[in-house]
Amino acid sequence: SWLAVAGPRTVLLASPRSFCAGVERAIEIVLQTLQQRDTTVYVRKEIVHNKHVVNDLARRGARFVDELDEVPDGATVVFSAHGVSPAVRAEARDRGMEVIDGTCPLVTKVHSEARRFAGRGDTVVLIGHAGHEEVEGTMGEAPDAMVLVETVDDVLKLEIEDVSRVSVLTQTTLAMDETAEVADALRQRFPALRGSAAEDICYATTNRQESLRRLTVDADVVLVVGSVNSSNSQRLVDLADRQGVPAHLIDDVADLRPEWLAGAETVGLTAGASAPPELVFEVIAALGGLGPVEVRERRTVDETVHFGLPSALRTR
Ligand code: SF4
Repeated sequence: SWLAVAGPRTVLLASPRSFCAGVERAIEIVLQTLQQRDTTVYVRKEIVHNKHVVNDLARRGARFVDELDEVPDGATVVFSAHGVSPAVRAEARDRGMEVIDGTCPLVTKVHSEARRFAGRGDTVVLIGHAGHEEVEGTMGEAPDAMVLVETVDDVLKLEIEDVSRVSVLTQTTLAMDETAEVADALRQRFPALRGSAAEDICYATTNRQESLRRLTVDADVVLVVGSVNSSNSQRLVDLADRQGVPAHLIDDVADLRPEWLAGAETVGLTAGASAPPELVFEVIAALGGLGPVEVRERRTVDETVHFGLPSALRTR
């Protein structure tokens, strides 16, 4: 029960945490589209992988759909931060839709590399998670030239005809250490491998992993605010787990469980790049309801990245 876990506690608050520049931009794009268009605004897929963000935008009128076949011809549709394949873009164009593109510029960068690498005749190995929307979009850039790997095992099973022409790309939200292992395995099998796997993991993913890694050593338990389908949030949980500290993913304070706090005097707290910052403070407030809480923020780096809105949306 909650009574049994009362007591003074220290919260080690990771920084950076929560929203990245790509998520802030994608949310602003939906808000501005709702404001500037006098018509139903459709959003293909969750704009970012967070339940609270999606519910809030749906309340404001955004119509979330899974695929374009749920969108009428000629309608206004926002593409999510994770990006789309060229086939989806072509369908929207052919059906006369107005597209407002919420794709994160750092995902777009990986797409253009995929085109460039495939264009020069390479087999492009993408390190990523099968079924993730970003992976589907990126693979769609050159479906015949690309192969997906998730693990070192997958690398060992790869069959590539011309081993002198292989390049590597990654999903933007992977674990840095695991990806390095897979990339090393690739380099061993294909010494002529081109591209740098580390470069595609975005600054926000890198910074959130690094700040959590540093404080996990001093924490008894780690709480990560984020939704289950958020790749970068899941990677934060994995990271703490691998360091031997129990970690739990929570959408919000309602998911907190007393047994996680038993014997935990020091709680590490962070949030994935798609999780709203205020949810973190609600968790701190809830811990404060169990006894005195001392919050120590540990900042590893200042983030100054900002992305402008697409030209289709003019802000005054
Ligand atoms: Fe862009 Fe990285 Fe944020 Fe994804 S996590 S939206 S790639 S900045």
